[in-house]
Amino acid sequence: MSFFGRNRAPRGTRRSPTPGNGRSQPPSPGASLSPSSPFFNNDAGGEQKPLYLCSPFVNSALVKGNFKTIVVLPKYVDVMEWVAVNVYDFFTNLNEFYGVLAECCTQHSCPTMSVGPNLNYPWQQTSGRFIHMTAPQYIDTVMSSIQIMIDDENVFPTNNNHEFQRTFPGISRHIYRQLLRIFAHIYHAHFHQILHLRAEPHFNSLFAHFLAFGQEFDLLELKEIKGEPGQVVGVGLLWEKWRELGTLEK
Ligand SMILES: [Zn+2]
Repeated sequence: MSFFGRNRAPRGTRRSPTPGNGRSQPPSPGASLSPSSPFFNNDAGGEQKPLYLCSPFVNSALVKGNFKTIVVLPKYVDVMEWVAVNVYDFFTNLNEFYGVLAECCTQHSCPTMSVGPNLNYPWQQTSGRFIHMTAPQYIDTVMSSIQIMIDDENVFPTNNNHEFQRTFPGISRHIYRQLLRIFAHIYHAHFHQILHLRAEPHFNSLFAHFLAFGQEFDLLELKEIKGEPGQVVGVGLLWEKWRELGTLEK
């Protein structure tokens, strides 16, 4: 039996936010949360930029320094197992964060799956057809579909009788792309609520860990992080900033 197969948390159980130490969980959102809180901040030059790019929030983290050391493949660990257990952790932790914010992410506040000022993702059905979904519908659909994959022993095997299939890297990239969109939506549409909860150190650390891991194992495409000219993904700028600051590898 493999190391990670033995130690992966039983399904349905909750784990502490990665890479936090359990000291402080994000509190429940209170009545003071205001969806109309200012998203943008004016810097000295009069240029507007998102709050998550502004000091001190951009530097706020539970984990200081570079994430490289915690994402590299440990000795004697199968790379598939390492990716599987980390994808599981990112999914679980992001699910918990979104659960706290869910009451603020409604069909009225978020009628589209927005991830930047001019970028909204439609949902692509298995037939390939794109359909419109509100952000909560989109996120619920993504999370439910990922949960089904994680629960499928053929996709995420947890015992020695099952092996990872050759499709697992492609599935991991698919999951990663969808989780990135949820991170991007939360930063774009709900960062002020993260600030109200004083959860920005947790959330930044979780996202930086997610990006560093994705970089290390080639799970993310640059265009998914940054978007395209005229259709920029908001967190693409955060990714650039963290590369400048040394939080992420260049
Ligand atoms: Zn939302």
